[in-house]
Amino acid sequence: MQITNLIDQLLTREGGPLRASPILRDKVAIFADGRCLISRPNGEDVDVISLVALAGRLGVQLKAPEYVDLGSLRSLYADNDAGESGGPRISRDDTSMQREVFDLLFRARQEGASDIHLLVEQDMVTVQMRINGALMPMSSCGASGGELKWRPEHGRQICMTAYAMAAESGTADSSYDPFGFQAGRIVGGLPEGLQAVRLQFNPVGYSGRHMVMRLLYTAQTIGDSLGDLGFSEAQVALLSELADQQTGMVVISGPTGSGKSTTLERLMRLIVGRNPGECVLSVEDPPEYKLPGVIQLPVSNLRSDEDRDVAYADAVAAALRSDPDRIMIGEVRTRATAHHAFKAAMTGHQVLTTLHANDALGVVPRFRDIGVDSYKLRDPSLVRAVLMQRLLKRLCPRCRRAVDPCRAGLSRDLARRLTGFLQGRPVFLPGPGCGAACRQGFVGRTVVAELILPDQKLLSLLCTGERQAAEKHWKERLGGLSMLDNAILKIGDGHIDPLQIDNKIFI
Ligand SMILES: [Zn+2]
Repeated sequence: MQITNLIDQLLTREGGPLRASPILRDKVAIFADGRCLISRPNGEDVDVISLVALAGRLGVQLKAPEYVDLGSLRSLYADNDAGESGGPRISRDDTSMQREVFDLLFRARQEGASDIHLLVEQDMVTVQMRINGALMPMSSCGASGGELKWRPEHGRQICMTAYAMAAESGTADSSYDPFGFQAGRIVGGLPEGLQAVRLQFNPVGYSGRHMVMRLLYTAQTIGDSLGDLGFSEAQVALLSELADQQTGMVVISGPTGSGKSTTLERLMRLIVGRNPGECVLSVEDPPEYKLPGVIQLPVSNLRSDEDRDVAYADAVAAALRSDPDRIMIGEVRTRATAHHAFKAAMTGHQVLTTLHANDALGVVPRFRDIGVDSYKLRDPSLVRAVLMQRLLKRLCPRCRRAVDPCRAGLSRDLARRLTGFLQGRPVFLPGPGCGAACRQGFVGRTVVAELILPDQKLLSLLCTGERQAAEKHWKERLGGLSMLDNAILKIGDGHIDPLQIDNKIFI
């Protein structure tokens, strides 16, 4: 797919973004580059005038109309339908636009950003990137470093070019619709350290456009091991034991943006490395990371949730019929997928998956809500492990400040727990910031997690809704450490700021 084809796009084609009736298509043709062809007698036609006005309102930079005869208009549409570029070509330097997209990604990658947000509005463009979980303006390149300023038309072209790059990768529909919801992925020609870039395009009010680019880093960039992500030594040891198991389910949970897919990816790498000669299949919507040694079945570009759920369950069923040793299921959302996941576990496979739940103890009740039978949920050889995680900002070790826990401005509960735990040691708060990698006292993010390896009693209590008893059993009999316990260990080590705990999640 060449960008010129997209830019030449006939906006008024059948099914195009500017919906024109067949009668209207005998009168006018409008292209994304602003060219406007009108059949000679229809220059004053009210419908033509209002369609042209609509194109203008939607951000098309209209050029002076060219008057043509009816025959040329009809053959133009016919050529376009036949898949040829019917419109007059404009010369445009594709590579220079692609270079700009590359440059944008390069700078975001240098800053360690997770996402780029580009918002095109009627008279301005805002470009932001998310670093350590917070959005901040993206500055222009060069020494001036001022805020990036683009004209709306330029912003639209950046969106269109990014889309074309995804289409070239074969991961997007072939035609860009400036007014629709679309998605895609760029997988080739990226800055070093990036494995892929996931794109989401949203139409916004007043003919604006919102593009979100999710940067997916290679393992080498973030660090190869689970320990690098922030899991405690004890957790790494337990996860590593799980990698040696042949059967049972490992369920990872956490809100959106909690790093679940990165953990899943590291775990899969560990498993594949430890167990050569196995058939490992994954079903993902779509695959986030390339996993060497894993046959990745994509479920992608489906318009409705319903279609997606059906396709997803079908893909999992197909994976089960494909003589697998292990299966990774990107996410369990529906009864059908849960059914297949448990079936795989019950027939002697290891299954790794993610599920939305509020905490690790909430995973079993969530499965029950989806419709999994209790007798399956009570079996610890099926529900082997449940991991819940969040991402917290990591304190910069160079400029962090030591403070007495009672003077850190914490809630009374947390201050009391910390004072008891720290025994006179200080807590650390973010410093003022000290260099390129350090942003207002933080460098990157770290996982805080809780990991449950349940026994039958714990699962039974969870199945019957006795949550408090389950929690007590987990902590007292199974030595469970909650996310708060693990966060306190990290506060003690000076890795995280206790105020994040108070504000964010735990209390
Ligand atoms: Zn610092």
